[in-house]
Amino acid sequence: MPGPGEYLPDPTEGITRVEDLPAPKLRKRSRNFRRRPCPRCGHSAYRDRVFQRTLHDLGDLASGRPCDLRLTCSQHFCSRCRRYFNADCADLAAPGSHYTRRVVATAIRLVIEDGLPYQAASWGLWRDHRVFVPWATIQNWVEAGGEKGGAADRGRAPRLGAVGLLGVHRRRRAVRRPVLHPVDRR
Ligand SMILES: [Zn+2]
Repeated sequence: MPGPGEYLPDPTEGITRVEDLPAPKLRKRSRNFRRRPCPRCGHSAYRDRVFQRTLHDLGDLASGRPCDLRLTCSQHFCSRCRRYFNADCADLAAPGSHYTRRVVATAIRLVIEDGLPYQAASWGLWRDHRVFVPWATIQNWVEAGGEKGGAADRGRAPRLGAVGLLGVHRRRRAVRRPVLHPVDRR
């Protein structure tokens, strides 16, 4: 009878195509309102339309499946400013992002706190949290988080982001299973 320390490999190890990974569970979230105050002038603005976003969230370890949030969000039109704006979803995800904030935070901690190279962080996110993030995406997050000056300052000063300060990209460890590096086509 094997003890509790028995090594069991991840059953998805060796999969090289995103389509072959287990299908995500869908959870619904709503930020859908009839009226919202305009962020510029405060005018109560009616809903103009409703749209949906899919956000990749931390997965479900009990089933071994990823979790996607199906977010329903209202867009509003301010008749004073003549501008459209969306209901605030910033608690869930940054604008335009395909991942929830907690996925981004977890990924950055793996790199900054644990010193993992990006590919190992990508594998760790899948193995331990069942969310697939291409390693280049994690690199973008870490570098964006460390940048003080924004895009305009690029090329002027050396980048003193978290990566440069901590030297994490130079701390290379032997990665035993750098498996997941397919193109994310979702
Ligand atoms: Zn307005």
